[in-house]
Amino acid sequence: MRILIIEDEKKAAAYLQKGLTENGFTADTTHSGEDGLHLARTEAYDLVILDIMLPGRDGWSVLQELRAGGSDVPVIYLSARDVVQDRVRGLELGADDYLVKPFAFSELLARVRTILRRGSARQPESLRADDLEMDLVSHKARRGGTALDLTAKEFLLLSLLLRRKGEVLSRTLIAEQVWGINFDSDTNIVDVAIRRLRRKMDDPFERKLIHTVRGVGYVLDER
Ligand code: CA
Repeated sequence: MRILIIEDEKKAAAYLQKGLTENGFTADTTHSGEDGLHLARTEAYDLVILDIMLPGRDGWSVLQELRAGGSDVPVIYLSARDVVQDRVRGLELGADDYLVKPFAFSELLARVRTILRRGSARQPESLRADDLEMDLVSHKARRGGTALDLTAKEFLLLSLLLRRKGEVLSRTLIAEQVWGINFDSDTNIVDVAIRRLRRKMDDPFERKLIHTVRGVGYVLDER
């Protein structure tokens, strides 16, 4: 497994590289966003660790350019601050996970392993949470054995939430993924669709799976 570390603090980069190497990974480091973007585009990496605060081209720009170019390499970004806006921005730009500095190396290693496992599991044919099951091949959803009558958009919306179970998804991200509409569009459409979806798959059942995260978006979670 080959990992690219894009981090301008040389000591931190060397420390990560050493730790990853000791744990059986091949790790390359670069200290600039521009070089990092170039490497990520031209070499085959299984994962990229990306610092956000970089001189010149910053981590957001690297991530955006990577995704715009069609790369789906998993990205863990390193943020200097733990604020909701940064988390949402990271998700919107297509990051897979993030860590707030300072973090323990063991924490990073655990995230790296989780993501690489998820990546190699490929696209599952069915998804589940609690008593909710979705068959992505036959396009059928059931809760507690009862078939749910969902429209195509509702199915897509529920599968997005379920695929990213436990992750808070912003309205903007949901609007983009389900309706293909972009940032400044009216995201009220998301709230309306969630309400309809809940009426079908949450309201009739005792345990609720879709939760509202105020000011951020929605998460599907078995709480
Ligand atoms: Ca930095």
